[in-house]
Amino acid sequence: MRILLIEDDSMIGKAVRQGLSAAGFAVDWVTDGRAAELALGNGVYDLAILDLGLPKKDGMAILASLRALGNSMPVLIASARDTVKDRIGGLDAGADDYLLKPFDLDELVARVRALLRRHAGSGSPVLSHGTLMLDPLRKTVTRDGAPVDLSAREFAVLEALLQRPGAVLSREKLEESVYGWGQEVGSNAIEVHLHHLRKKLGGGLIKNVRGVGYRIADV
Ligand code: CA
Repeated sequence: MRILLIEDDSMIGKAVRQGLSAAGFAVDWVTDGRAAELALGNGVYDLAILDLGLPKKDGMAILASLRALGNSMPVLIASARDTVKDRIGGLDAGADDYLLKPFDLDELVARVRALLRRHAGSGSPVLSHGTLMLDPLRKTVTRDGAPVDLSAREFAVLEALLQRPGAVLSREKLEESVYGWGQEVGSNAIEVHLHHLRKKLGGGLIKNVRGVGYRIADV
C-alpha cells in the first residue's frame, strides 16, 4: 500500500517516513502544497497524511480541492493546530482523522491501519492463491493455515503480484510497489526479495517471464 506524506518539517517527515516504511508501507514524501497536489493527481495513493501549515498551499485548501474532485481516499490530518475549531474544521472539510502534534509514531501507524481497514469496508481484503492467504491490513501471510514469516519488503512484493493475478509485472513496477521515491534501491533488490519468497513459499509460485517480468503462477 502506498502512502503520500505531506509534511514540511524535515525531522517529523523523516521519522514518519521511517516508521511507515518499517510497517511495510511504500511512502512518498512531499514538503509543500503544490508538490502535494501534483502527487495526489497521480491517483496512486491509498492514504494521505496531511500537515496543515505548509508552504505554497495550506493543507486545508489541498483537502478541499481533493474532495471537490470527488476523491474519497482516506486523509489523516497531523497538525499542531490544536483548537477544537481547527479539528472540527478539518473533519468537516473531509478529513477522516485528526492527530495532534506531537504524536506518538506507533499511534500514527495504528490509526493509518485503522483508516485503511475502514476504507476497505466490510468486504474481505484478503488475497488468496490456493491455500496461500495474504492479509494486507494485518500484514500476515499464511499457507495451509500456518503463518509464513516474511520481511516487510517480501510482503510488499508478494502483495503486488497477488493483486494482479495473471499480469506480468516488470521489475520497475515491483520496485514502485515496494519503495517510495528517493529510496535507495539496489539494482538486484527485487530479485533478492523474489529469491527469498521462493525459498519460503516454493520455487513454483512466482514465474519469471524472460525479458518482461514476473507473475504469480496459475493456481
Ligand atoms: Ca508544517
